[in-house]
Amino acid sequence: MLAAGILVVGLSIGGSMAVTHAMFQLDGTIYYHDAMLAAFCIPALVAPPSCIYYVWVARRMEQLNQQLDHLARKDPLTNLDNRRAFVEQAQVLLARGEAHMLAMVDLDHFKQINDSLGHAGGDLALQHAAAVITGAAPQNALVARLGGEEFGLLFALPGTEGARESGEAMVDAIRLRLEALPLITPAGLTRMTASFGIAISRADESLDHLLCRADNALYAAKNAGRNRLAVAG
Ligand code: GH3
Ligand code: MG
Ligand code: MG
Repeated sequence: MLAAGILVVGLSIGGSMAVTHAMFQLDGTIYYHDAMLAAFCIPALVAPPSCIYYVWVARRMEQLNQQLDHLARKDPLTNLDNRRAFVEQAQVLLARGEAHMLAMVDLDHFKQINDSLGHAGGDLALQHAAAVITGAAPQNALVARLGGEEFGLLFALPGTEGARESGEAMVDAIRLRLEALPLITPAGLTRMTASFGIAISRADESLDHLLCRADNALYAAKNAGRNRLAVAG
């Protein structure tokens, strides 16, 4: 970028001097050196600010691109990754070939929370749920708001015996934490629960397929009465 700016300055000085030189060759005017000085000074004064402006614009564009990328990947309400960012990262993790546990989390009867607290209160409840889930999630887990009142959690399972059971226990700990920690509002305490659908990735399974199995398990958890885990077969 700086090199391009220097090139602009060099070209404008050289170009201006060349034009002035050619002009004097044609007209045979006598104040040649003064004119050459002017030909040097004008672009020397004009070009550096243009160069600085050019560099400033390029840097600003870079910053804006970074902000856009952030906006495209983050859920503004909870500041968690959104579905798009989750899918991108999950695909990378699954491609490594290790077994991962995916949990789809859907808050129970969220419409009622919205009805009783209003939409703004519902938003607070979503932020509360996001904080509880993030706080209780295993280290290095991907946590995202997949949409509405639905969250996703993905973490690697160690290849040791009992890993599946300990993974399920970790997810259940999140469920219990959510149930135990009410949302505190000026109107009082609001209790929240969530249902969880869990699936463990299989060798060469696509993320879409894994999400689909976890989603089916989530429906099973809802149908079985909510505030529980269901594990995909
Ligand atoms: P279930 O136990 O079956 O999941 O019932 P539910 O009421 O949680 O599910 P349903 O899909 O019927 O309703 C989800 C509600 O979540 C409806 C929608 O208005 C609300 N919701 C989705 N996104 C937001 C949001 O960003 N803010 C708020 N306040 N509410 C939201
Ligand atoms: Mg729900
Ligand atoms: Mg839902």
